Amino acid sequence: MSVVERIHSLDLVREKVIAGERLDLDDGIALMECDDILALGDLADTARRLRGGSDDVYFVQNLYLNQTNICRVKCKFCAFARTERQDGAYLYSPAEIVEDALTQHEHTQFTEIHMVGGEAPDVDLSYYVDIVRGLKTALPDVHLKCFTASEIHHMTKLSGLSHEDVLRELQAAGLGSLPGGGAEIFAERVRRLIAPGKEHPDNWFHTHRAAHNLGMPTHCTLLYGHVETYEERVDHLLRLRSLQDETGGFLAFIPLAFHPENTVFERRGWTFSAGTDDLKMIAVSRLLLDNIPNIKAYWIMMGMPMASIALHFGANDVQGTVVREEIFHAAGARTETEQQIDELVRYVGEVGRTPVQRDTLYNELRRFE
Ligand code: SF4
Repeated sequence: MSVVERIHSLDLVREKVIAGERLDLDDGIALMECDDILALGDLADTARRLRGGSDDVYFVQNLYLNQTNICRVKCKFCAFARTERQDGAYLYSPAEIVEDALTQHEHTQFTEIHMVGGEAPDVDLSYYVDIVRGLKTALPDVHLKCFTASEIHHMTKLSGLSHEDVLRELQAAGLGSLPGGGAEIFAERVRRLIAPGKEHPDNWFHTHRAAHNLGMPTHCTLLYGHVETYEERVDHLLRLRSLQDETGGFLAFIPLAFHPENTVFERRGWTFSAGTDDLKMIAVSRLLLDNIPNIKAYWIMMGMPMASIALHFGANDVQGTVVREEIFHAAGARTETEQQIDELVRYVGEVGRTPVQRDTLYNELRRFE
């Protein structure tokens, strides 16, 4: 596409955004192909404000836990998973996880636990239920955001129960919401290449729809920067938008840049995504996902300086304090594994936005004027 055509396309999309019209697949591809990154950012920020966004930027005080890194799936982009016999493989018992969380809570008073892990073959559903029940009993005021849709699907295989029944059991034990992982990218062509052992994307949607129908909110993600095309990214976003139209159950969307270190992709020459691609993903997500209120700039992936710039490209959330992150760091993330609240507040304040500490459900806990 020529430069003139690209500018023309952006003008057409801008007219639709200003008029409050919904963008379609062609608009999304035109946005992805646009190299005028500042114009994209400006348009995304305009869209955010036109849809009711303010200067508030959210973060949550949270703790990341991984119950196990033992996984049967072997996704090619994953540097975190181990087989049972590999060095460094671990599977924590529910009691160990609860003890760890209690110790951490004495130090940081987090309000959310974000926990995901591998699909260990030798556990059963009660392992997961016991973790959730143990954490809820020990820390009743902490919101439990645990287990990807892939893990929920794994639990259906372990137990023979439906996705709905697994979610019901976990909800009864204290599960509050689902994280967005396991979505990767929905295009089957790409899934076959990067995650051939992972279940069909329909299961991801089925799990999230079932959670929403049980009144359990969830999050959604997209893993970009590997072998997918722009069209496949846009298609992924539009599929998320359709489910949100149906249920309204997504709290936030988090674009995740692929980290190649310690994966087969590193050996084949893949490198980290460019900062401009990260900013483009944030902007296009904001523009296309007109019904998902929060777009996260995930500082673990892009670093806090870039995450703060992303706040001018449509993002309104910088995730949280995190405390301990293993999955992206196994794949080469150079960021810290923890942010202090003071630092989050400073970065957000320095780009002219108002830091607001939230709980998982986006209730305001503290405002830093
Ligand atoms: S991404 Fe998840 S499912 Fe895939 S290998 Fe890693 S831990 Fe297992």
